[in-house]
Amino acid sequence: MIKLKGIGEYTAAAISSFSNNEAKAVLDGNVFRVLARYFGVEEPINSTGGKKIFTTLAQSLIENQQPSLYNQAIMEFGALQCKPKSPACQVCPVQLGCYALKHSKVDVLPVKLKKVKVKERWFNYFIGIKDGYILTKQRNPGDIWQQLFDFPLIETAEKPNADDPIL
Ligand code: SF4
Repeated sequence: MIKLKGIGEYTAAAISSFSNNEAKAVLDGNVFRVLARYFGVEEPINSTGGKKIFTTLAQSLIENQQPSLYNQAIMEFGALQCKPKSPACQVCPVQLGCYALKHSKVDVLPVKLKKVKVKERWFNYFIGIKDGYILTKQRNPGDIWQQLFDFPLIETAEKPNADDPIL
């Protein structure tokens, strides 16, 4: 199923467990949250290491369960009980074993890495060489590579082509 176009791990696990009762643990946002809080997993859910930990943990929990029922139950539990904001901890049926509640970490779990915004910039360098010397300049504060040395440059908004007058 996972080889089909448009079917990711989440959908494949959901379909195979709901329709065929296969022991494939579903991992959606609700499940990540429940597992992170209850077991105290502080690894970011969107890091490579975190995904491995959560996948292994989720898969170990579904063994010996009724897969379809288990997956639907934990997803619903996350959606209705262990909600992102203001989870109903005081009436939670598993509060005694919950790591996050015990350690006052309900508000900080699960951990998610912020996506780094990648900005594309085009530096067009001029290399000046005379009598064995190379012209360099020190970079200013307030930008990347502060105080380091590079060559004189012109920054352009786009990648210049060979016909560009600055070349
Ligand atoms: S006690 Fe609170 S944080 Fe822990 S599983 Fe229950 S609802 Fe979630």
